[in-house]
Amino acid sequence: MESVDIILRGEFLISTPSAHDNSGWCRDGAVAVRGGEIVASGTWEEISSRYVSGNIHYRQSGIIMPGLVNAHTHAPMVLFRGIADDLPLKAWLEEHIFPAEANLTPELVSLGAELACAEMIRCGTTAFADMYLFETGIVDVAARAGLRIWAGEGIFDFPSPAFKNGYQALEETERLFSKWKDHELVTITIDPHTPYTCSPELLKACAELSLRTGMGVVTHVAETVWEDREIRKKHGGMSPVAYLDSLGLLNERLVAVHCVVPDAKDIRLLADRRVSVVHCPESNLKLASGVAPVPALLEAGVATALGTDGAASNNDLNMLGEMDTVAKIHKGITGNPECVSAGEALSMCTSMAADALGRTDIGRIEPGCRADIVIVDLDAVHMRPCFNPVSQIVYAAGPGDVQDVMVNGRFLMIDRKLLTIDERAILEKAASLARSS
Ligand SMILES: [Zn+2]
Repeated sequence: MESVDIILRGEFLISTPSAHDNSGWCRDGAVAVRGGEIVASGTWEEISSRYVSGNIHYRQSGIIMPGLVNAHTHAPMVLFRGIADDLPLKAWLEEHIFPAEANLTPELVSLGAELACAEMIRCGTTAFADMYLFETGIVDVAARAGLRIWAGEGIFDFPSPAFKNGYQALEETERLFSKWKDHELVTITIDPHTPYTCSPELLKACAELSLRTGMGVVTHVAETVWEDREIRKKHGGMSPVAYLDSLGLLNERLVAVHCVVPDAKDIRLLADRRVSVVHCPESNLKLASGVAPVPALLEAGVATALGTDGAASNNDLNMLGEMDTVAKIHKGITGNPECVSAGEALSMCTSMAADALGRTDIGRIEPGCRADIVIVDLDAVHMRPCFNPVSQIVYAAGPGDVQDVMVNGRFLMIDRKLLTIDERAILEKAASLARSS
């Protein structure tokens, strides 16, 4: 018998959600974890016949599953939750969000990041990709909370509250890269905001830094019809995707967020260049930007992840809700109930999301993977009976059902109690912010 740090045991285990059928799970499942790594997973019978531990974490009504990956957000925007609803993207951004962001300070950003981390842990998210201002403070908060983070300082042509211009933000990106390059939980990315808020020269500088360092690039692209029209007008008829290609940005290091309005040629180009896409269905719906052609992207072989986007256009950071939405919206659009299955939706925020962000050792419960694991409680009236745990997670579960959260072998929440964040203090600060505005 081999000794491990902890064995998790639950009524069900979802190891790697299958995109094509509702398999990839078993009853009475268990996971053996040692040194933050998954040593083995399978039925309790299999695991208990090979491994021993003084720490058996048993949830009789629990679904053990990979932690969820929120592949695109702006975490501190939880501070703007509900300040400007029901507006088109351009008016929302230019008349409400940019003016509100002009008053941001590093302290406010850190407060927002902590509130966001608490919300994400409660929703079963173990990793997130963040683009914002004063990103250094967000990385500190996430690392302290024990979450896995991809982080990039937002890069624009115009001055941001954090930096005078995009080149200073690029320097900050390099500084963060050197500071965090050996950290287990942190990956720094280069985050030009959009093709229309960055000049071609600045975008080229981003591409060059990526080529030189191997860093990933994250950018919003092809989010609206307006953007598509503007870019085509300014750049000789090129679509936003083709325009980024002309600047050397389209490659396997690029994460293209939104892609609501790519044409068939763009989809081919994204697939050929092995670009990953992040689909943010609720944010795109709320801003009436449209719906990304996810079935066509998946069909073309584009790794497509899910993200909430910022809470100001969502208005929460709940990946369980995002999965439910993505599985339904494409059925409605295509008239095909088989389109985006529950397994496909779940893989878009676990294994496929990890692949999209360039990590094959998270997003699944398999030997050799990092132990980023959540346990969802079935002991609730909306969760019984349970015939298929994948269906239950995608179509029935809510944030309140997430019971335990582990990242890299460390518990961040046990029995719905956050262990790395002082939730009460954060709630009080966030509540008083709204009262004083
Ligand atoms: Zn965004």
